[in-house]
Amino acid sequence: MLEDIRRKVMKRLVKKKQESTKWHCDVSPRVLSKLEKNKEKSFDWMAEWNGYNEYEVSSVYNGVDKHKVDMKARTCSCREWNLTGIPCPHSICTIYHQSKTPEDFVAHWYHKETYIKAYKHIMGVVPGKNFWPETDGIRIEPPMFKKMPGRPKKNRRKDKDEPRKVKDNKLSREGRVMTCRICYSKGHNKRACPFRANNVENVQQKQNGNKENGQKKNKSNKEIQQKMNNGDKSQGNTQGNLN
Ligand SMILES: [Zn+2]
Ligand SMILES: [Zn+2]
Repeated sequence: MLEDIRRKVMKRLVKKKQESTKWHCDVSPRVLSKLEKNKEKSFDWMAEWNGYNEYEVSSVYNGVDKHKVDMKARTCSCREWNLTGIPCPHSICTIYHQSKTPEDFVAHWYHKETYIKAYKHIMGVVPGKNFWPETDGIRIEPPMFKKMPGRPKKNRRKDKDEPRKVKDNKLSREGRVMTCRICYSKGHNKRACPFRANNVENVQQKQNGNKENGQKKNKSNKEIQQKMNNGDKSQGNTQGNLN
């Protein structure tokens, strides 16, 4: 696999380097097309200069849409220029106002020079596996297979938000908002209600009821055990009598 990756990278480097020689401009073609689109959009804007480095760019159609362009920091309040490095329609408007070319304001990442720099390194050529030298060190083998306890799972482990298998005619409860039956607010149910403390008596009663039931059960168990013991004793007695 590593060898495949190496070959792929080698081919890619050559391809990218050849591509850059075909560029007509100093800027990459993809960025140029984006710039052309922004140039067209720039005619919808009007620039006003503050006398220094900043411009106020307002829409031709309404006075509400306004952006602030800083030519020195190369930023616009629409954030497109800051994020992409490609001048946005507003900044192109100001560039035209200064009678300069927008191509000169594209970030250096998209320049031919940078592109060539990135792909200037060459991947070494490697002969076939049979010609590879053997080392004196220990052979590195894959780790031993360790059998884990239990039956191995066959099904793929599903993500938390992945839909589970649901019964026919039933929809998933995923995304459903719970409504509390005590305080009628959303987001939690009766069980997790902060106002539940008011219902402590009810809860206690219920718990007591459960306890009583449990005690009854215990009693019945004890009774059964006692009976069993008695039975054993009586049997023992009878046996004793027989002896
Ligand atoms: Zn902008
Ligand atoms: Zn509640």
